[in-house]
Amino acid sequence: MDIKLFNSLTNKLEVLSPIKPGEISMYCCGPTVYGDAHVGNIRPAIVFDTLRRFLEYVGYDVKFVSNFTDVDDKIIKKAIAEGVSESEITDRYISAYKKVLAELNIKPHYKNPRVTEYMGQIIDYIDDLVKSGAAYNKDGDVFFRISSIKDYGELSNINVDDLEVGARIEENSKKESPLDFALWKKTDEGIKWDSPWGLGRPGWHTECCVMIDSIFGNGKIDIHGGGFDLKFPHHENEIAQAKAHDHNKLANIWMHNGFVNFGNEKMSKSLGNVVLAKDAIAKYGGNVMRLLILSAHYRAPVQFTEETVIAAKNELEKISLAYRQLAVALQLNGGSLSSKEIKIDNFLLALADDLNTSNALSELFALIKEANQELRKRPLDLAKLESIFASLTKMLDIFGLNISYPLLTKEDKDLYNKYLELKKEKRFEESDKLRDELISRHII
Ligand SMILES: [Zn+2]
Repeated sequence: MDIKLFNSLTNKLEVLSPIKPGEISMYCCGPTVYGDAHVGNIRPAIVFDTLRRFLEYVGYDVKFVSNFTDVDDKIIKKAIAEGVSESEITDRYISAYKKVLAELNIKPHYKNPRVTEYMGQIIDYIDDLVKSGAAYNKDGDVFFRISSIKDYGELSNINVDDLEVGARIEENSKKESPLDFALWKKTDEGIKWDSPWGLGRPGWHTECCVMIDSIFGNGKIDIHGGGFDLKFPHHENEIAQAKAHDHNKLANIWMHNGFVNFGNEKMSKSLGNVVLAKDAIAKYGGNVMRLLILSAHYRAPVQFTEETVIAAKNELEKISLAYRQLAVALQLNGGSLSSKEIKIDNFLLALADDLNTSNALSELFALIKEANQELRKRPLDLAKLESIFASLTKMLDIFGLNISYPLLTKEDKDLYNKYLELKKEKRFEESDKLRDELISRHII
């Protein structure tokens, strides 16, 4: 099966063709850890976790790396305001973020590198760029020279001349060109490291290039992901450095997810219209949040409103109910919960078509409908139910929906058989009592 993904760099659907056979190297820019993640922030985490689950299902060994930006002006500001060290702030929000990821059933990543752990490599990388002429030192600040590479702006489709006009408004007199960006910042305040250019700390854009080079070793990966808002300047500047440093564009496929809208606007800290991920999860649960995010195609916006969340909640209930009923019916009738008859071809085809989770979800609901029809049939077609249950289990796993079902004990099964017997004998008073007991055990 060809897997096609939309490459933001070429604006085309492209067939995924791994650098190393059987393996996918994937990197997604992680959070700057100075505050709690909001609902908009968790969209890339869910989208790329789902892509990873799908790729693993079809047989790839996926090495998924997502970083923590634990060096940043906002972190330093917060540390000073609270009178604590930067690491106290970053440790706090890294553990909060990891908790959110666990509640969203995000599979643990291959690695979660922190910028502070890669400072030596970052300094070496910048030094390489200075030595090759792609960057320059100006009184302890180091800038990337965008005129040193070809086609700056090709990811975000921006015209350098237009940008220069805008950039001149906030011109930094130290830069040769207003579009040159900082690789190293000379600093007096907050955490700093020694470097060939004096004490300072790195700018934001170098860390991902360095972590990708250090972890994957070959200077180029299969998939680089992130939110749409990272295209410019962050990813544009990552590509610029990779062109200068490794003569490549860092990733074969660049993927960007759309925003989560709250009201009529993109949810963002700067607009002040955020709902914290932990609050939304506490209120609705991780499954509902996943289903809501995956109900739209990843490049389209997702509306986060009371109505859309309730719709997702109702859909999840429909799925859970059918799934549990299938599990119980199979156990009561001697069926197997681990049939090998898995039929999810159309579901997989939808995901292979640029991760179309919305179409894949329609396939899942078609199967739920079939399950409900089969459950009403008498006698039950056990083989059919087994296949539906096994197929549904795989679909739920790829969507990362964590839905449990009761495992019946011998006592549960005896109780159920007794209940059927009493009903058959029309001993309704007794059968009603058993019925209540079975309901309280979630068997019927
Ligand atoms: Zn990045």
